[in-house]
Amino acid sequence: MDLFEYQARDLFAKHGVPVLAGEVIDTPEAARAVTERLGGRSVVKAQVKTGGRGKAGGVKLASDPQDAVEKAGQILGMDIKGHTVHKVMLAEMAPEIAEEYYVSFLLDRTNRTFLSIASVEGGMEIEEVAATRPEAVAKIPVDANEGVTEAKAREIVAAAKFPAEVADQITEILQTLWKTFIAEDALLVEVNPLAKVADGRVIALDGKVSLDANAEFRHADHAELEDKAAANPLEAAAKAKGLNYVKLEGEVGIIGNGAGLVMSTLDVVAYAGENHSGVKPANFLDIGGGASAEVMANGLEIILGDPDVKSVFVNVFGGITACDAVANGIVQALELLESKGEEVTKPLVVRLDGNNAELGRQILDDRNHPLVQRVDTMDGAADKAAELAAK
Ligand code: GDP
Ligand code: MN
Repeated sequence: MDLFEYQARDLFAKHGVPVLAGEVIDTPEAARAVTERLGGRSVVKAQVKTGGRGKAGGVKLASDPQDAVEKAGQILGMDIKGHTVHKVMLAEMAPEIAEEYYVSFLLDRTNRTFLSIASVEGGMEIEEVAATRPEAVAKIPVDANEGVTEAKAREIVAAAKFPAEVADQITEILQTLWKTFIAEDALLVEVNPLAKVADGRVIALDGKVSLDANAEFRHADHAELEDKAAANPLEAAAKAKGLNYVKLEGEVGIIGNGAGLVMSTLDVVAYAGENHSGVKPANFLDIGGGASAEVMANGLEIILGDPDVKSVFVNVFGGITACDAVANGIVQALELLESKGEEVTKPLVVRLDGNNAELGRQILDDRNHPLVQRVDTMDGAADKAAELAAK
């Protein structure tokens, strides 16, 4: 989960990374009182989950409260790389910026380690610097067991060639930033610019944080960081039911057991769709190994509630939960939905294979539901589901 800048700022503050005061607002008029609280001037910053706000005109300096109202009015509603600005952060205006640096920690999957990246040439051109003069950007691996000790922080400072007069401050900041990274289970913490200002202080003026969704269970406080307004309503409903669901752009609803099987089902349906007006899978949904009738019903309810879905492909490979249990689950799920007054009108193509496949198929045949069709091969079922969706 990527955070907004103001949320990153809050986490930095919590762990001792030096930041400036800031408040988030969503109407221009609110900028007046906030700017007064911030000392009469402020920096007005678009809150969108994309970089390059500065270049896009999404960061403006306001010289007084009235100016802040006007600048907030210009930025709210602005489109930055396809993101509409719904909120702005007003930040205390930094003393004059003397230098802009870059520091970050991230999970480096390729090298199976954590990585620190640091440069004395931070600011809005960092991508350009990294591309044209990679030697100006230091990359130092960080051992997961050792973390960023003072010695490690000094190694990073030396590698990036930070000036002597800021070395101690940056050594300290790297350690607090690492603390943020570990304590919050982040995949990325980035500060750009980390600014040296006129009075000699080094301050994080912009932050980017991405949290590891797999660690959500041990951070109850992270739930409130979620941008509910931006969440897809089907994904939100699925999440509330504890389902592994991702909305895609397509017409064939997909339910399967096991992430690998569901991934290949998406491929097979997309391929089959090429022969049926280009229909595509409408979603990813993995109901997992031991799926009960209730889980199947929950999954079907989400998928049938998707207006884009024209047909559904249920692709199950029986394992510990055998096909007869799955078949009963499908039958019960349809009854459950119909008893809840939900009209089931979209055709379901079911492919059952694996443990007790014959028994499962028999159960579906005996039930003979008018909307359920049984196809025994994955390719055949994908083709049928695509054909039905294209109708
Ligand atoms: P980004 O372009 O989305 O990365 O947004 P930033 O928050 O990094 O802001 C872009 C640029 O605005 C920075 O590189 C700074 O030069 C400038 N900036 C940001 N905050 C302040 C501030 O408090 N005071 C001043 N004078 N400039 C700032
Ligand atoms: Mn920035």
